[in-house]
Amino acid sequence: MEFKKLYDIANNLAKEIKIEEHTYISEVAVALVSDKDNIYVGRSIKTTCSLGLCAENVAVSNMIINGESVIKKLVAVYQGGKIISPCGKCREFLYQINHKNLDCEIMLNLNKIVTLRDLLPATWSDMK
Ligand SMILES: [Zn+2]
Repeated sequence: MEFKKLYDIANNLAKEIKIEEHTYISEVAVALVSDKDNIYVGRSIKTTCSLGLCAENVAVSNMIINGESVIKKLVAVYQGGKIISPCGKCREFLYQINHKNLDCEIMLNLNKIVTLRDLLPATWSDMK
């Protein structure tokens, strides 16, 4: 699975849609490919009082309900096509879902791929 294909999938989903007063399917979409080569997507949900979810949480939920937890590649795209990095909470979340995800490749721009380990050099459990 090429990153360009994942990027195109996420980019096509990264559009804000109002679904309720003060509640939006937000501007960020994620596409990931699992170690079994299945693609899962997620879109962020924005609400008041910070009750929403990052797109990574939604994509991982889709993966989990299909019995998978290991991610090979992930890209997050903001409306308009800008690639963004998973936030700090999501970095730790991806690690806690499966520690193998430290080797997950994450696209930061069209020419830069890093691993989750690069973005999360010290996990929560490293602090024991
Ligand atoms: Zn996040």
